[in-house]
Amino acid sequence: MSKESLDRLFEPNSVAVIGASSTPGKIGYAVVDALNVGKYEGNIYPVNLREKEILGHRAYPTIGDIPEKVDLAVISIPAKFVPDTVEACGQAGVGGISIITSGFSEVGNHEAEERIVEIVKRYGMRLLGPNILGTLSNSQKLNASFAPMLPLPGKSALISQSGALLIALDAGTYLRGVGFDKLFSLGNMADVNFADIVEWLDKDDHTNSIALYIEGMNDGRRFMEVCQKSSKPVIALKSGVSAHGAAAAASHTGSLAGAAKVYGAAFRQAGVVEAQNLNHLFDLTQAFQLQPTMQGDNLLIVTNGGGVGVLATDSAERYGIPLKYLPDDLQVEMKNYMPDFGSAKNPVDITGQAGLEGYQKSIEFGLKQDWVDGLAVLYCETAVTNPMEIAEGIYNAVKAAGSVMDYKPVAVAFVGGEKSAEAVRWLIDNGIPAYDDPDRAVSALSGLRHYARMQEEKIGMAEIAQADDGAYEKALSIIKGARESGRDALTEVEAKDVFAAYGLNVTATTLAKTEDEAVAMAKDIGYPIVMKVVSPDILHKSDAGGVVVNVKNDQMVRDAYKKILDNAMAYDPNADIFGIAVQEMAPFGTEVILGSTTDPAFGPVLMFGLGGIFVEVLKDVTFAVCPVSKAQGLKMQSQIRGARILEGARGEAPRDQEAMADLIARYSTMMYDLRDEIKESDANPVMLYEQGKGLKVVDARIILT
Ligand code: ADP
Ligand code: MG
Repeated sequence: MSKESLDRLFEPNSVAVIGASSTPGKIGYAVVDALNVGKYEGNIYPVNLREKEILGHRAYPTIGDIPEKVDLAVISIPAKFVPDTVEACGQAGVGGISIITSGFSEVGNHEAEERIVEIVKRYGMRLLGPNILGTLSNSQKLNASFAPMLPLPGKSALISQSGALLIALDAGTYLRGVGFDKLFSLGNMADVNFADIVEWLDKDDHTNSIALYIEGMNDGRRFMEVCQKSSKPVIALKSGVSAHGAAAAASHTGSLAGAAKVYGAAFRQAGVVEAQNLNHLFDLTQAFQLQPTMQGDNLLIVTNGGGVGVLATDSAERYGIPLKYLPDDLQVEMKNYMPDFGSAKNPVDITGQAGLEGYQKSIEFGLKQDWVDGLAVLYCETAVTNPMEIAEGIYNAVKAAGSVMDYKPVAVAFVGGEKSAEAVRWLIDNGIPAYDDPDRAVSALSGLRHYARMQEEKIGMAEIAQADDGAYEKALSIIKGARESGRDALTEVEAKDVFAAYGLNVTATTLAKTEDEAVAMAKDIGYPIVMKVVSPDILHKSDAGGVVVNVKNDQMVRDAYKKILDNAMAYDPNADIFGIAVQEMAPFGTEVILGSTTDPAFGPVLMFGLGGIFVEVLKDVTFAVCPVSKAQGLKMQSQIRGARILEGARGEAPRDQEAMADLIARYSTMMYDLRDEIKESDANPVMLYEQGKGLKVVDARIILT
């Protein structure tokens, strides 16, 4: 959508309030009042069937009676009247509609909502909501909501799916000192969604950073694309990560893929900084709004107290920017700015004796050094120092550092009482992010670093593996065959054929219907071989005693054949058994899992982790939205806890991570290509060998949509 289509909705020259009221306490009163209090400079048109005037504005009986084509219509009337009113708006040439009224899809009333969307589309209007608070913009002096005041002014924008939360956070902006130019309430997202607004804000001169509160998403992929392209940092808090229908999933991947993991992966891939809670969302927003991102890993900490210094050091490690000692020559000079018993290592401890001068000089010196990429200044309130004076010292030192501040972020933490709180607020008001806890300051800086890293990594992430010619057609014909026989799960043999079509290295596998056939196939493949039951009713073959490995000769083939059949019958007497798979035995390797599932917001997602039978116990897995590049495939291998096992721990040779990355990329392409056909799949295990020796997929599972 072009910017123009949303301009009338978000930057209107005129606003009609449909359902305006002169009765205090009604939403239709609150909205007109809010427009007045916010000093909106455009035309305000209350719409009310009976009233002649509302809160100083001439009222009109219907939208059609207003003498101009209104840009924005805010609707707050009972749900049952909304569709006809939207139609009237369309006829009257309204540009954008903001529906505050609830009682639509959020309570199962999909029909009315769909009708509204149809009308809106027909007239080329845009729709925010329904079920929202409204929109607020300081630069437009526009409070088109029922929140009593515009937020504390600033350069961020906040988009919240929940209107109730937004009205609370609006008030909270004053308390927190984090300013916003715009607040948007999204509600049911029947038309305008997160992606639309982020895209629009990216071009908005009054916004430099974007904060999101997300409950769910309907267009995850477009959201990712828009965020990837956004020139402004996007910070997101996702709620509802605990219940995601994970339990009933048929595959390992399904059961391990909670919303938290999938959204986390999508954010990483899209370069979105993830917040853990509301305070964190605000802390990050403050830092991104006031500071540049952090271009390197070297964080300098200046403190007047050892305790807070150690706490900050712990935080730095926890958040992925572990502290390093200052280079020796810098330590020697830094020593000049503190008493003898101070420490110039990093954290630089200028001691409790340090006053204004100690802070000012050490900060000025530190910021000048190329080695320093970012700075955290910590202060413990003492009997001999005045917090406000220290704050001013910090401010002056930062100002004196001049243009390096364009690429070196600073954050401050003051631990103390009311005087410290005042100083913190003063710093914020003067453009320096400040907090009451070293952990918050370091966490905010780590967000600035993390964002810069994601920007660096974007390069090389875009190259997606191409499927071999004819892969899709081949896969489709196998899938069609299974569907025709009434199945929604492929056998291992079929699944491996699909995998092989996409160039995945699977063990050669054939299906034997008799003992003699099995012996012949085994000889063809060459001993040792592996034999497995093939039945659409037995998904976990070893649980049924349906897998025999290391079969070395003809007699063993015959024995295994009988044994597997017996076990399978005992396990499930009604199981439909297609035969026994005879396959190449892969040498033992590190067992990893590759899996995929379909997420309601993002479609096919990929899981990689340490596999084998303990995958659900270890839960050492990481996710990505398909398709992913080989570069990303490499990155995923570093994201699991057991990454060092792959890198070669305890004298073991490193695993073939290149081959694994290639497999991840191809697998993700397969899943993306076949997203309309495959619901879930996994390759568990994949035997991963040492560097240069490749890998082998020994088991394959595909569940159809
Ligand atoms: P399921 O997961 O249905 O129980 P698998 O096919 O994964 O059955 O087999 C169980 C285990 O047997 C695997 O985890 C692997 O350790 C081993 N295995 C299976 N097939 C092979 C093979 N072709 N080569 C070597 N080992 C195998
Ligand atoms: Mg398996």
